[in-house]
Amino acid sequence: MQQQLNFIGKHKLEWREVPLPSLPDDKAVIVRPLTVTSCDFDGLVIQGNFPMRGPKPLGHEGEGVIIDVGDDVTRFKIGDRVIMPWKIACGHCTPCGRGHTAQCDSVPPSESFGWGQMANIWGGFISDAVVVPWADFMLTPMPKGADPVLVGGLADNITDGWRAVGPHLNERPGGSVLVAGFTAPGSIALYAAGWAVALGAKRVVYADHDQDRLERAAKMGAEPMDLKVEKLRSLKPELRGLDGGFDITIDGGGNPAALTELLYLTARAGVCVSTGGVLYPGKEIPFPVFDMYMKSVSFHTGWVHTQTIIDEPLRLVHEGVFDPSPVTSTIVDWGDAIEALLEPFTKVIIKRDK
Ligand SMILES: [Zn+2]
Ligand SMILES: [Zn+2]
Repeated sequence: MQQQLNFIGKHKLEWREVPLPSLPDDKAVIVRPLTVTSCDFDGLVIQGNFPMRGPKPLGHEGEGVIIDVGDDVTRFKIGDRVIMPWKIACGHCTPCGRGHTAQCDSVPPSESFGWGQMANIWGGFISDAVVVPWADFMLTPMPKGADPVLVGGLADNITDGWRAVGPHLNERPGGSVLVAGFTAPGSIALYAAGWAVALGAKRVVYADHDQDRLERAAKMGAEPMDLKVEKLRSLKPELRGLDGGFDITIDGGGNPAALTELLYLTARAGVCVSTGGVLYPGKEIPFPVFDMYMKSVSFHTGWVHTQTIIDEPLRLVHEGVFDPSPVTSTIVDWGDAIEALLEPFTKVIIKRDK
């Protein structure tokens, strides 16, 4: 048997005793998680800001050590340290072949660790052992000498922040970036701001009304803009129009009012990226399509295809180009996970040595 942390309901978490998993087939491995980092989604459900029915195993960002290996696994052996991505993906279906791993065809759409409907099947990382299917495709080896505390979050939120900026800044070298936070826990928005600075944006503005997040953004070199979300509208006369706006705008907090305004605030041939779509079920959000058309503005949203893109942000964190640590609010030992997760947080890191 093993101890697995479960979300029960708003402000209620519990360690539950569940069976240890065994290898389901020859392509899978079993990993013992050693470092688990909170996802923004965890904070939303624990604080009661997103409906989820418990019990659900928690944890879908992290790294660990392989403790059992299927016979067909060629890239990994027992004892290897690996980063486990949040999403289950097979590596051989058409979407996976195109790099769209978050939309893998071999499993139901929301199949992942520690998140959504299927978490009861795959379990969460805040446990003693998880099965990772299709391990050769799913897993990323930990770079030699990498700090688990820095790289564990690449499994989801740090990579999510990178994809909101990195590829778009490549197309618009030296471009300007506006990130809208406005929603706790807010780590993805903060990572996006930090990435924009690290990747050489000429101006990075982080907008929020929360002093703690504004300070974290400033620590990463972004320009904090302290305002209520409805005040984004008042920025328009100064920044909208054909010559105004930011090359990249990011809706990191899933805030409908912010998203519409960000579309106005996006510059000609710019891109608006929403990493917060999980907060929009059933919401109809006004899109200024004519304005976007006249400025050739594009819009992008969707789950992050971690397995496809993780290598570049992982390398940049490992080489010190980007330091995600100003986003971290708490680092605790494994046994103190519940107390840490019940407090308001931007990022909790739960760790053990072995
Ligand atoms: Zn997540
Ligand atoms: Zn697939």
